[in-house]
Amino acid sequence: MRHAPKSIAAVAVRNNETRIQELALPEISADDGLLRVEMVGMCGTDVGNYNHITRPTILGHHVVGHVEKIGEHASQWWGVKEGDRVAMEEYLPCGTCEHCREGLFRSCKSTDSRRGGMRYGNTSIDIKPGLWGGFSQYMYLHPNAVVHKMPPHVPAAEAVFTLPLANGFEWMCLEARVGIGKTVVVLGPGQQGMACVLAAKAAGAQVIVVGRQSSVHRLALCKQLGADDIVNTTIEDPIERITQITGGKMADVVVDVTSGGPELITQSFAMVKSRGLVVLAAYKYAKVTEWDSDLVLAKSLTVKGLRGHSYGAVEMAIQCISSGRFPISILQSHNFGLLDVDRALRTAAGAGEPNPLLVSVTPWQ
Ligand SMILES: [Zn+2]
Ligand SMILES: [Zn+2]
Repeated sequence: MRHAPKSIAAVAVRNNETRIQELALPEISADDGLLRVEMVGMCGTDVGNYNHITRPTILGHHVVGHVEKIGEHASQWWGVKEGDRVAMEEYLPCGTCEHCREGLFRSCKSTDSRRGGMRYGNTSIDIKPGLWGGFSQYMYLHPNAVVHKMPPHVPAAEAVFTLPLANGFEWMCLEARVGIGKTVVVLGPGQQGMACVLAAKAAGAQVIVVGRQSSVHRLALCKQLGADDIVNTTIEDPIERITQITGGKMADVVVDVTSGGPELITQSFAMVKSRGLVVLAAYKYAKVTEWDSDLVLAKSLTVKGLRGHSYGAVEMAIQCISSGRFPISILQSHNFGLLDVDRALRTAAGAGEPNPLLVSVTPWQ
């Protein structure tokens, strides 16, 4: 297979400014490889990073593509060969620390950008070979990359939902252990909320999604994905409704995936049953001081902060998507070519095309 000696990439050069650049393709050794990017899903993290560009960087880390070139060792370790279709994790873990040995790459120091770690979609082009992000025709497969096989029959627009869905499986199934007979309340019908709906439904739980009138379209999509009930907080009292839906039992698990303020955390303590679990899974970027700690004590609640996914959760997500059991394609709202990455990022941020949900980029368009 021949490939062009260069990759065209959309490089975030400073805050909210993207330039198209050509980057040389690296020589591939026995331990690494090169990915021909097929499609990239936009993440809230990309939108956040676009406002904090300190060095030129190719963003985009929900990446699906085909192995263009691979070294002999890497091929053996990863169990993939040239031409195989794969979904990438964003992490570049060390592979040897105690967290990596448990598959908890997100806790590995090497993946923590605040401590000098590297991730796909968040590493400057100044670090060789520069192709560290998905908004590019090719992406470098570092020896520490985490690669999952993606079956060829899965539509690309669904395959790029792998990582958000992996978070859903991690939080709902591996951490909260929901299943048949359990009731889950999801606060916030965004990408991550929908991933929680899918994971909890795949596990057999009853699911209630809570959102505002401005999200009424997304609430309807949650229903299509299998949510049992939706609650519109603009026209109904969420605690009253959840009391009614659960016959006064309240929820076993409440997961907050909104960027909303402290009132949602207070509400989640009221929505959950005694001895229940409240999952905080979205950064607020503000200190929430109004904790009703006495209520946490009185109801013997567990409050857990969760972020990211394990290796196993990504496998669960791929199996769920491949099964075709859920209409995941309805999440796709916008697809842009490489020249329109800036517009794609603005759209995902809510400042571009209307009604964004799952925004994606196809670099060969
Ligand atoms: Zn992401
Ligand atoms: Zn590690």
